[in-house]
Amino acid sequence: MTAAVRQNPVPGASNFLRQIIAEDNRTQKYGGRVVTRFPPEPNGYLHIGHAKSICLNFGLASENGGVCHLRFDDTNPIKEDVEYEDSIKAAVKWLGFDWGPHLYHASDYFDRLYEFARHLIKAGMAYVDSSSPDEMRALRGTLTRPGQASTYRDRSVAENLDLFRRMKDGEYPDGAHVLRLKIDLASPNINLRDPTIYRIRHTTHHRTGDKWCVYPLYDYTHSISDALERITHSFCTLEFQDHRPLYDWVIERLADAGLLPRPLPQQHEFARLNLTYTVMSKRKLLELVEGGHVHGWDDPRMPTLVGLRRRGYTPESIRLFAERIGVSKSDSWIDLSVLEDCLRDELNERAERRIAVLDPIKLVIDNYPEDGVEDCLAPNHPQRPELGSRALPLTRELWIERDDFQEQPPKGYFRLSPGAEVRLRYGYVIRCVGVDRDASGAVSVVHCTYDPSTRSGTPGAAARKVKGNIHWLSVRHAERAEVRLYDRLFAVPQPGRARDEGVDALPPRAAADASNDEEIHFDEPTERNHLDDLNPDAKRVAQAYVEAALANVPSEARYQFERHGYFVADCKEAAAGRPVYNRAVTLRDSWSKDPAGGR
Ligand code: ATP
Ligand code: MG
Repeated sequence: MTAAVRQNPVPGASNFLRQIIAEDNRTQKYGGRVVTRFPPEPNGYLHIGHAKSICLNFGLASENGGVCHLRFDDTNPIKEDVEYEDSIKAAVKWLGFDWGPHLYHASDYFDRLYEFARHLIKAGMAYVDSSSPDEMRALRGTLTRPGQASTYRDRSVAENLDLFRRMKDGEYPDGAHVLRLKIDLASPNINLRDPTIYRIRHTTHHRTGDKWCVYPLYDYTHSISDALERITHSFCTLEFQDHRPLYDWVIERLADAGLLPRPLPQQHEFARLNLTYTVMSKRKLLELVEGGHVHGWDDPRMPTLVGLRRRGYTPESIRLFAERIGVSKSDSWIDLSVLEDCLRDELNERAERRIAVLDPIKLVIDNYPEDGVEDCLAPNHPQRPELGSRALPLTRELWIERDDFQEQPPKGYFRLSPGAEVRLRYGYVIRCVGVDRDASGAVSVVHCTYDPSTRSGTPGAAARKVKGNIHWLSVRHAERAEVRLYDRLFAVPQPGRARDEGVDALPPRAAADASNDEEIHFDEPTERNHLDDLNPDAKRVAQAYVEAALANVPSEARYQFERHGYFVADCKEAAAGRPVYNRAVTLRDSWSKDPAGGR
């Protein structure tokens, strides 16, 4: 299946999940209650795809006067860690959402899940299978061939109960037995062919310790957890659509037995977020970190929420993004520029303007007094006078951008070149009168003269028309800063995919669980490795000059550096007297014209 990249989703695009809730409220299906949940597995850092799910679940609940639970789906003790739980909680809070008292863990339900499994055994709806993983795979059948019963399918209830208890008590090694539901081996839906619901794992769990030697699998746990918490709307991504019959089968049977309260939760699927120029699977993100391709989970190039935060993204811009992309029922890719535009739109409103010279070359105003200094008034925001203005000291020696001067200007170049005139932004009109050169012959200093009658804001200024307008900083007053110019992590829209390949559904975790394999690896259906598509220019470091006041600003302060983009004071590596700024986003999208990258 090939899905188009959506460049410009309609703001507030039709949200079919909103309509479902409205309809359920109209029919009083849940008596007007709306209870959703965000159910992360604590095995990695959250990324922008999770943010879509968080905004949906918390947003839809709060729009409807409901609540959203945060539930850690901690059923796989091998990969989980409290460090991840803490980071997930921090990320949800940072995005602006609050689960109040509703923090849960699937492991809170281990006792009940176990009792429910015993009930299913007693009712003849579950059995212990002692086939090897290979045998189970062979008997499961295929899309065109029905599954077959293993020799263990007709064990007696008493034998099943005894085996299951001994599995729990740790009498058997990992993989010796599993507990399976007895549903329908001929079902065209493979998920219903007697899915495994428990497996043996002699692994310490970060919350339940060594109490359990069996752990329940995703589909079983998830549906029951939803029902126990009296969730009304269980939203998940499309790859779980084929699991919905199993979800319903489990909770219907238990509700019939009076073990779960009605009305039962209803699962609804939406398309996961795929974003161009990045990857989102935890495995690939881990690979980037462990391979040293980025500096940790919070590297500003990463699509993790900790990375986006360091990059300069605000919670507001991410919530705006979630709203703009809407939700749909079919897979599509969202162009990264949609996310970047959300940040631009927000920071354009909110960020004060400042001056930074990223690639400095010295400019001397030959006819300006040696010790002279005067204040030029620079507005903090061109459209918001209430934000005031500040004084930029002008002196004889200035830093300007190296590429604002060209000895041999190409056609249409309106900045400085020998004999040409430009305006120093908020200051005077200057004319280039010469250059100094270093030993190699390269220009080291640009010499100019200024016209005192052209000062910005005076009547003479308006009389003098010049096309170029460049920014500058006084050499005597500017401070050094390290400025990191971040760009897209990958140089191509769909990393790791041959150009003509489509978008495939990603393998759901439940499918991985159900196979009872100890180690499960999914390989992308492509020869190409996404690491081959990394953008080598995704991070460039500039030794820049900034306005003196920028040497000491609170971490995470955000500014527009005029003509350069939006920047944030790094929250991690800046120190007193050593400011570090990260470029969050450029002023304009420079990738749309040239999808292969480069600027
Ligand atoms: P990954 O697939 O990236 O490894 P995951 O799906 O295993 O992550 P979970 O912890 O299971 O991560 O995800 C928690 C919730 O976030 C799930 O409900 C899942 O559907 C949702 N989610 C994960 N990735 C995306 C995405 N790209 N778009 C929308 N929702 C997502
Ligand atoms: Mg998943």
